[in-house]
Amino acid sequence: MTTTTARTDRIYKSPSEFLVRPNFVDYEAERSAFSWGEVARQLGADEDDMCNIAELALDRHAMGPQRDRTAFRFVNSEIRDGEFGTEDISYGELAEQARRFTNVLRRLGIGKGDTMFVAAGRVPALYYGILGALRNGTVVSPMFSAFGPEPIATRVRLGEGTVMLTTEKLYRRKIAKVRETMPSLRHILLIDDDGSPSEVAGTLNLARLMAEVDDDAPLTPTKATDPALLHFTSGTTGTPKGAIHVHGAAVTHYATGRYALDLHPDDIYWCTADPGWVTGMSYGVIAPLLHGVTSVVDPADFDAERWYRILEQLDISVWYTAPTAIRMLMKAGPELAQQFQYPKLRFVASVGEPLNPDAVLWGRDVLGHAIHDNWWQTETGGIMIANTPAFDIKPGSMGRPLPGVDAFVVRREAGRVVIVDEPNVEGELALRVGWPSMFRGYLNNEDRYRESFSGDFYLTGDLARRDADGYFWFVGRADDVIKSAGHLIGPFEVENVLMEHAAVAEAAVIGIPDDMVGEVVHAFVTLKVGHVANEALRRELMGHARKRLGAAVAPKGIDFAEQLPHTRSGKIMRRLLKARQLGLPEGDLSTLESSS
Ligand code: ATP
Ligand code: MG
Repeated sequence: MTTTTARTDRIYKSPSEFLVRPNFVDYEAERSAFSWGEVARQLGADEDDMCNIAELALDRHAMGPQRDRTAFRFVNSEIRDGEFGTEDISYGELAEQARRFTNVLRRLGIGKGDTMFVAAGRVPALYYGILGALRNGTVVSPMFSAFGPEPIATRVRLGEGTVMLTTEKLYRRKIAKVRETMPSLRHILLIDDDGSPSEVAGTLNLARLMAEVDDDAPLTPTKATDPALLHFTSGTTGTPKGAIHVHGAAVTHYATGRYALDLHPDDIYWCTADPGWVTGMSYGVIAPLLHGVTSVVDPADFDAERWYRILEQLDISVWYTAPTAIRMLMKAGPELAQQFQYPKLRFVASVGEPLNPDAVLWGRDVLGHAIHDNWWQTETGGIMIANTPAFDIKPGSMGRPLPGVDAFVVRREAGRVVIVDEPNVEGELALRVGWPSMFRGYLNNEDRYRESFSGDFYLTGDLARRDADGYFWFVGRADDVIKSAGHLIGPFEVENVLMEHAAVAEAAVIGIPDDMVGEVVHAFVTLKVGHVANEALRRELMGHARKRLGAAVAPKGIDFAEQLPHTRSGKIMRRLLKARQLGLPEGDLSTLESSS
């Protein structure tokens, strides 16, 4: 595979990039001193002993000096006179509501071993509901509130949910239609939308029940190995898989919040991911609470101006977002960004897809902070490889394995996994098993789970290479790699080069079957504001790609698109572009964002 060189190979960090002392400065020393058991002890959880995510994240603080600190700051949907109104909920208040919620479940006979499905916007009840259920030993499975009726029903059936937490509006619009197809569901708890609670047949009103129970609810004891969360994957490559996670995962969330997000207790932190997928749960709910920080929650959808305004007005210090959002901000142009200032911002990280080098640099130029890309999956439960405060960023690289994580490039040989030691050789990304947040099964798919492991290794299905400095570079998903005339081409590399062009906002590259060369590279691009799609621009882009990549790797065709199809977790669905291009069945679209 060819390798292009990023225009900036490395961003050297100066100490002034951090307004407070980073959590660690010596990567090698931290790695060699690290042990998961020690982190568990710092957190007050003994790994093999009793451990409950909600106790560590919430109950612990609610009894201590953190009691009155704001846990979540909910932003109002409307902006009045250029200002946001907010609603704060302290650690103490959140814990009280979570305890009441635990009692609501108990009163309904829901306990350990039950599964609660959640589909609600980012409102306070979603957060105390999740935590109250975890306190009760009840497994939580979050869904995007924007899912249609069928994706919701399919997941509830697969996970045999016995209770669902949702809102009145969502119930009336979607869930009522499929209620009969979810026979395992014993109770549906409705969160009120604005206005007064109304009776909806076949459901229970949450506010009413919360008022009836008291707030004394001792925790149901759980072990580190007890199931806590059921997360469905994004469905980027096929039908979403249900990944089972345990309470002990909190130990990973705590350690990675420290290393990869540089969380300090006085931070105001904004994770833009919805709790409907694993990032929004692990790093939008659990990790920030474990660290005792204040999290900002915006219930609204993406809007470039709104987001810049939130960064500025709510004094965000640590920001965790996704490439697709960054690309949309880039698309909106620098003038908008320059209308705001971000003096409190000190650390920006991204996850979910490869982060193009240009996006890393945009962060530096526009926000004043280069963006720290990090890599992980639903299956890993937490961040595994990251650009951290402790070392320089190489734009386009996912960074280095965090302390406690052993990552390798491997190849499979006669059914065995062989570690590739030489740097800069591509192969499958594998992790040595043993980190606490590793998934413990795919729901109803024991075979697939077993096939993900070989000896000591978990095989990720992603391709990567490791350079001589130990940085990992994402090449593509094993499914997406294009084989053309003897070359193996990673779509990310081609997309990065297209993104270098001033007109391009987003690019997606697929392989199209070809009799002569196996597959040819084909690209779809969207344009930034102020650029027009025409033949001249197409030729210019083809020329730019050929110059940077060589004729064998550059796209043979480029289509302009208004939008690219994304999953709700913000990933480009290349398989859908390919299916459409080839006139093949579109496959499972349950996670497709409706606007795309
Ligand atoms: P499915 O498994 O259902 O096809 P998915 O793999 O997109 O969906 P997630 O678990 O949400 O579901 O996403 C994990 C994947 O996202 C990783 O395996 C990787 O392909 C991609 N990814 C995440 N972060 C990064 C990153 N920083 N750089 C490159 N790829 C990333
Ligand atoms: Mg996956």
